[in-house]
Amino acid sequence: MASSRQSQETSMRHVLSFDVEEHFQVSAFWSDARRQQWDRLESRVEQNTLRLAELLAHCETKATFFVLGWVAERHPGLVKALAKQGHEIASHGYGHELVTNQTDREFRDDVRRSKRILEDLTGEMVFGYRAPSFSITDRTPWALATLVEEGYLYDSSLYGRFQRLEKVGRKRDVREIVTTAGNIFEVALPTANLCGIQLPIAGGGYFRLIPYSATRIFLRQLEKAGTQLVMYLHPWEIDPDQPRMDGPLVSRFRHYLNLRRTEHRLQYLLRDFSFAPVVEIVQPIREMVQARASRGTAACAVSG
Ligand SMILES: [Zn+2]
Repeated sequence: MASSRQSQETSMRHVLSFDVEEHFQVSAFWSDARRQQWDRLESRVEQNTLRLAELLAHCETKATFFVLGWVAERHPGLVKALAKQGHEIASHGYGHELVTNQTDREFRDDVRRSKRILEDLTGEMVFGYRAPSFSITDRTPWALATLVEEGYLYDSSLYGRFQRLEKVGRKRDVREIVTTAGNIFEVALPTANLCGIQLPIAGGGYFRLIPYSATRIFLRQLEKAGTQLVMYLHPWEIDPDQPRMDGPLVSRFRHYLNLRRTEHRLQYLLRDFSFAPVVEIVQPIREMVQARASRGTAACAVSG
């Protein structure tokens, strides 16, 4: 059973993350017309996320939940419950618009708004951000600097598509990117080379597409190379009964593929590997968070 850790072969711990959004908000089905309908479509995010939380509790595992501000406004109890259970709450932005479709100003408003909503709900600082569909790319060179200016400590949006990193350092096991506004940690997704393209196969549609036995081999190889995994899934990926949406055939294939298998695969994953939230598992980030927390406590003591 997934709660048993007997079969774990190593003691290495990895990042487990979920992007908390509605099934109808995914970029593949995005249209301005559908965006106008969001408040009228069937909401399933709360029940699916609570089911994930239940599974994690059963496996005694905590994770990072990148929550959409739009969802947090409509399901404040869900965000509070996750935080109360000890999960890390991070930001998935507010409106799930691709970063590549936003101006610098729009992006700033989006990440500021979501951070404020989440912090007001939990009473805790939000340190992390993940862009919708990993859409921080070479076309958005201002995005990481904006995140620094808005108080984010780390980003988890990048894989092979972001090439233009003028200055990249490593602080032990995590990349540290130098921006015009200061440094930001990058909790990047591991990729595999498939037909010449680097793809983040350790989560999402790739996790559903590839048989679990193959995923497991890939993850073990990364683990042996000393690479910390960053797994990502969405609550709608464990919901085979979600309403079907019209859209391009490829999008429909990718979105609805193997939904019935995801929850079992996640159980196997939690049995075979050990996971934790970003702020707990990525050591330099953990240290920075602790330092900020103690500074905050000191500031409260002085002002209070
Ligand atoms: Zn998303």
